[in-house]
Amino acid sequence: MSEEKNKEALRIKFNQYLEENKHRKTPERYFVLDVVSETSKRFDAEFVLNEVFNKKIRISRATVYNTLSILVDAQILREHEIEGKKYFEKTPLSQIYVRLICTKCGKTKDVKDADTISFVNSKKYGKFLTSYSTIAVYGLCSSCVNAKRKATLRAKLIAKEEKLEDKKKNIK
Ligand SMILES: [Zn+2]
Repeated sequence: MSEEKNKEALRIKFNQYLEENKHRKTPERYFVLDVVSETSKRFDAEFVLNEVFNKKIRISRATVYNTLSILVDAQILREHEIEGKKYFEKTPLSQIYVRLICTKCGKTKDVKDADTISFVNSKKYGKFLTSYSTIAVYGLCSSCVNAKRKATLRAKLIAKEEKLEDKKKNIK
């Protein structure tokens, strides 16, 4: 996903969250979102406050803190605490991944499949308002498929040998 698309996806998600929770859509909140979307590293509230200060935008400290906590609630950010200090980082856009789950060994693997996810998200289910979806596909992982194939081969081989044994016995 390109950086622009990524930014757009976050905006859509934030928009939906604000609407659903009846929060006001203020330019200040979107400014904070933009600062957040442009960072790929872990950051703290001071980092956002600095950006606000550098760009000479008037946003109060309280608004920055408040918006960060809305972003956490909207699952756009994840919050960590390290040595008593709060840090934030972006939640991976798991909505473009399909989860493959092996029913035999329980191994899981996330594979990118934006088409399927966006198809499901675009579907209408009555008056239900879809925000995002997760898709799980169940089956056998490659190592379990190999193990199964080997087991089948072994079973066939044993059956063949037994048949041969029987034939030998009959000849005698
Ligand atoms: Zn498996």
